[in-house]
Amino acid sequence: MTSDARTGQPTPLAPLPYNRPDITEEEIAAVVETLRSGWLTTGPRVARFEEEFAAYVGARHAVAVNSATAALHLALDAAGIGPGDEVITTPLTFAACANVIVQQGARPVLADVSPDDLNLDPEQVERRITPRTRAVMAVHYAGQPCRMDALLAIARRHGLFLIEDAAHAAGAAYRGQMIGSLGDATAFSFYATKNLTTGEGGMLTTNRPEVAERARLMTLHGMSRDAWKRYAHGGSWYYEVVAPGYKYNMSDLQAALGLVQLRRLATMNARRAVLAARLTAHLSDCEAVQPPAARPEVQHVWHLYVIRLRLEMLRIDRAAFIEELARRGIGTSVHFIPIHYHPYYREGFGFRRGDFPVAEDAYERIVSLPLYPAMSEADVDRVAEAVRDVVRAHRR
Ligand SMILES: *Cc1c(COP(=O)(O)O)cnc(C)c1O
Repeated sequence: MTSDARTGQPTPLAPLPYNRPDITEEEIAAVVETLRSGWLTTGPRVARFEEEFAAYVGARHAVAVNSATAALHLALDAAGIGPGDEVITTPLTFAACANVIVQQGARPVLADVSPDDLNLDPEQVERRITPRTRAVMAVHYAGQPCRMDALLAIARRHGLFLIEDAAHAAGAAYRGQMIGSLGDATAFSFYATKNLTTGEGGMLTTNRPEVAERARLMTLHGMSRDAWKRYAHGGSWYYEVVAPGYKYNMSDLQAALGLVQLRRLATMNARRAVLAARLTAHLSDCEAVQPPAARPEVQHVWHLYVIRLRLEMLRIDRAAFIEELARRGIGTSVHFIPIHYHPYYREGFGFRRGDFPVAEDAYERIVSLPLYPAMSEADVDRVAEAVRDVVRAHRR
């Protein structure tokens, strides 16, 4: 603890934010260099970022975009999802997943999660399949890959397009295979809080050339470059719009940041794993708290550290627990408010409380604690001590 220079009294520590991006002088220099280069929008740095990202995750193609939401939308479009179709996803995800399904005119169908990792339960997915089901959107919750063997087998058996939401899972692996190389299309997020950040940004990876080609086309107004080739001798001003595309492209400023972050990703993820293990060790004898655990066959990248409270052992609920942590200077979050609790989905799609008991029970208990590479060991110890202190003060 530091002390006040005037009074000599100890001053409280500054609050520990829930998240802080890990940006070094190297990222700053890369962005400044891009500004000086005169090329700000999609250009050489985006091309290089796509190449290096594809190589890193072992995918044949990578298309850089301005968010994971855009990548998910492009994946649905490339899969040909439209009105009358159903897409199965998890209730324990960010609203963007369900929103893009609705934007394509399709119906979001939810399947419950597994109690161990809060990822989509493959058995529940299979139960929700109807003749209208066209795709599954699986989210690698907190940075822990889903049970991909089972999901890939279901997709193959029923002829479904498998989209992975890897917003939390840059650098994660399943049975030694990198996330981004497995399903039909994978969406990554480079939002400010994610393991790799470009401020805002995303990437779609795929091994399927027709998916990459369609995504590339729809990323920039549906403008075809083939026309350029045909008219190359006449100048590069000519283009043809062959579909009503979107404006989802990434800028070179973002890619410059992303290239540095990508080179640092393995180190940053390793640091997350060390801090997560330290936090788990500190909480291991705290019976009112269930710490998260990694399944043995995965490489977890610890985007989130989500504890579950054993509320039956406490006199306070999760909301009060969060308030108590805030009073002790610890920032937290909740991932996620279930999709079917939001008014739009609750009222428009006939979902009811009780439909997804595992996700609903988890929602009452989950708290995401601070965990990011820029934290010190002392920060982690402080988080654990605050959690233990709240439990001590409010135990039944
Ligand atoms: C952050 C997040 C998204 C959206 O990412 P953006 O890049 O902000 O569009 C989608 N899904 C999940 C699970 C996320 O956590």
